[in-house]
Amino acid sequence: MNTPIHAHAPKDAPKYVYRFGAQGTEGGAGMKNVLGGKGANLAEMCRLGLPVPAGFTISTEACALSTRDGAGVLLAAIEAEVRSGLAHIEAEMGKRFGDANDPLLLSVRSGARASMPGMMDTILNLGLNDAAVIGLGRKAGNERFAWDAYRRFIQMYGDVVMGLKPASKEDSDPFEVVIDRVKAHKGVKLDTDLDAADLQELVQGFKALIRARIGRDFPTDPWEQLRGAVLAVFESWHNERAVVYRQLNDIPESWGTAVNVQAMVFGNRGEHSATGVAFSRDAGTGEDLFNGEFLVNAQGEDVVAGIRTPQQITLIGSRRWAELAQVDEVERQARYPSLEELMPTIFQALLQAETLLENHFKDMQDMEFTIQEGKLWMLQTRNGKRTGAAMVRIAMEMLAQGLIDEPTALLRVTPDRLNDLLHPVFEPAALQAARPIARGLPASPGAATGQVVFFADEAEAWAKGERGDGRADGRADGRAVILVRQETSPEDLRGMSVAQGILTARGGMTSHAAVVARGMGKCCISGAGAVQVDLKARTMRIGALTWHEGDWISLNGSTGEVFDGRIPTRAVFESDLSGDLAALMALADRHRRLAVRANADTPQDALVARRLGATGIGLCRTEHMFFQGDRIRAVREMILADDEAGRRKALAQLLPMQRSDFDGLFRAMAGLPVTIRLLDPPLHEFLPHDEAGQQAMARQMRLPIAQIRQRVEALHEFNPMLGHRGCRLGISFPEITEMQARAVFEAALNVQAEGLAVEPEVMIPLVGTLREFSLQADLVHRVAAQVFAEQGAKVAYRVGSMIETPRAALVADRIAQGAEFFSFGTNDLTQMTLGFSRDDAGSFLPAYLHHGIYEHDPFRSIDQEGVGQLVALAARQGRATRPDLSLGVCGEHGGDPASITFFHRAGLDYVSCSPFRVPIARLAAAQAAVIEASSE
Ligand code: PEP
Ligand code: MG
Repeated sequence: MNTPIHAHAPKDAPKYVYRFGAQGTEGGAGMKNVLGGKGANLAEMCRLGLPVPAGFTISTEACALSTRDGAGVLLAAIEAEVRSGLAHIEAEMGKRFGDANDPLLLSVRSGARASMPGMMDTILNLGLNDAAVIGLGRKAGNERFAWDAYRRFIQMYGDVVMGLKPASKEDSDPFEVVIDRVKAHKGVKLDTDLDAADLQELVQGFKALIRARIGRDFPTDPWEQLRGAVLAVFESWHNERAVVYRQLNDIPESWGTAVNVQAMVFGNRGEHSATGVAFSRDAGTGEDLFNGEFLVNAQGEDVVAGIRTPQQITLIGSRRWAELAQVDEVERQARYPSLEELMPTIFQALLQAETLLENHFKDMQDMEFTIQEGKLWMLQTRNGKRTGAAMVRIAMEMLAQGLIDEPTALLRVTPDRLNDLLHPVFEPAALQAARPIARGLPASPGAATGQVVFFADEAEAWAKGERGDGRADGRADGRAVILVRQETSPEDLRGMSVAQGILTARGGMTSHAAVVARGMGKCCISGAGAVQVDLKARTMRIGALTWHEGDWISLNGSTGEVFDGRIPTRAVFESDLSGDLAALMALADRHRRLAVRANADTPQDALVARRLGATGIGLCRTEHMFFQGDRIRAVREMILADDEAGRRKALAQLLPMQRSDFDGLFRAMAGLPVTIRLLDPPLHEFLPHDEAGQQAMARQMRLPIAQIRQRVEALHEFNPMLGHRGCRLGISFPEITEMQARAVFEAALNVQAEGLAVEPEVMIPLVGTLREFSLQADLVHRVAAQVFAEQGAKVAYRVGSMIETPRAALVADRIAQGAEFFSFGTNDLTQMTLGFSRDDAGSFLPAYLHHGIYEHDPFRSIDQEGVGQLVALAARQGRATRPDLSLGVCGEHGGDPASITFFHRAGLDYVSCSPFRVPIARLAAAQAAVIEASSE
């Protein structure tokens, strides 16, 4: 077991450096905030007795220091600790830093609190110079290896620390140009065909390139190299791709990264060396099967960069891969054997390590390892990123295996990722007719169709509806694109996030493209070897055929098939929940207290919602029904009518239609409550505003166009959202409310007469005072009494109020004297509390989010501090008047996990959200309950 050791820092000086290794480890898994995920887990692996090359972690606090006070202050603050950290590595590895005969080489890697794969920088083989390379070659008995390590080091250092990058996106990497020149000179194709002398020539070429382009020599002093690398890796926290990744994943800027300095071990020391990545379960499907990829005689970056086709770790995995790659068993054994077959003893050690780690962390592990001349070294372990489907399956299976308890299983699934399980699929008929053109690895599931684009920034522009030059191309809604790349790099992140799907020619299941796409829940096919990308010509060739930028292709990320042309896709949420997802939902239902209803306006939507587990309709927006078929005509007749009699005549036409709408909803939701809201939008929304529309309306209604124009003008409002809408309509035109109430009660009695249970709830919108509510509620009660008398039958019903104006929230105690339920309309409540127009906030919200004025879009996730207070207050006050008052939310926030947590704490009874967010809301409600229980 490790005994902690202490750095010899002056008393009370802050501690920035934490060692790890077989002899002494200061950190552990619990210190992610200080050591970053990578550093904390390296330390933990040491504590578990796994073979980890010795090293130390420079803390995230040092990153903050450097951001705040600059590089000079940082270097002075850590100098002594770094020196003693290095002494620790030297002692453990039996080598000295800067020793020309047997140099200790280092890796310098980033590692933030949350994993940000490939977004920040790494430097390997640090410590080499013209003298050390000779010693390394002699010691390893392999001159070629030493020169290869040296040229890789110069290449990485030149790029990351000295800033030598391609001049433009079409340009090649300047180092690759030198490599190509040397290869051409020698007449060989592969890097592996270069011998020690060639690599030595490369090193000279690289150094000359750096001198010419940067105007400085490549540093030969190992300490100078180390200082430069540490600073550059800290600095990479601020590079653009890291910033974008943080934005996409809600990672605070203030966290900073740690830097891990560790002894190098080499997977490229010959045929008994290798490097790879392994997963304790399948990150795509969640299957409990150890899997992963490796490359013989290679460095780690080669596996994730997707430059060579990797081999599989297990025999089962290898056979499955061969089937997909259409490689027969003889060729597989000869050219792509599994690690299990190739190095059985090492395989067993790795298997033991993965079992130990998974049991220890009780979650799926994503591990990196290197085999140096027959010895296994573990370089990283972390909780693996996974698809939504894998999240669900792993949580449920770990629960069944007794590894985790129910609350943990519930918390393991990110509610929004359930969307992945409701992935789009191709229309079956269109798929039948489609022509497959290539096959790659099924890196991330789903179906995608779009136009081919070869550059990430252009994918972004196209998706936004701009041309490559940034000008609008007339398609305001943007285009569906498929990003096609040779291989993706972290710079492509933004383009990947807007693409429908991603196709790469190279790379395995663990290539950058695959890992990032799975994290985004985005369809991706990697390693489609037949695809040849020509960036200059902007074409993709497969065999004799060519596709140009803008041509349509389709991807099936679940099978790896690439198709020519556009294949329509459809969402699969119409299907029932089944398997692990159904089990997870059942578990969530046992733990949650909040009920989940759906916002639905049609019987079809209601049925989807019910199948996905909704236990009622929380909001039916009746105006949506007014636009269907030729109803709009009757609605317009009502609006144009000069007097009440005229309006009543038009409303009489609408009554049977509206009754049959409600009939359908009550049937679909038999036995469950259905909340029907009275007409809400301003009447002008039902009239045409353009000349052509007005002319068509005039013809259809046989009226002079002037009359229509005049009515449109009369209804014009400067601020319709605060205008003649909501209950103000019903107060001005009670006959509208009467018709709607009559339709509700007649439909309810019809359905009830068939033996189905109905629970109608009539909801009054945009209320601000009790009197406003009562005027409408009294009308509804009167109509109910009339209908019951006419039909000689009754149905139980409730009348309630939306709480969506700040005033309603403030006087909720009074409104509750009349209202039997409250439903928070958090869309309007947000609009009116913040004074942000729902329709126009888009013009300034991005800047507001950027400045941190609001942490999240307040229309997506409830502003807990402001709007939330009104919700909590109204809930409390309402219940003070009426203890059994039922409380719900029907604004968009009802489907947002963070808001759901808030509503749970505020003591509401239910949330109501769009049908296919129902599973997300059920899970989020359960998480809120288990978090509350654990904090009690
Ligand atoms: C609300 O305001 O939150 C609400 C549900 O009503 P609408 O979005 O229809 O205004
Ligand atoms: Mg509203």
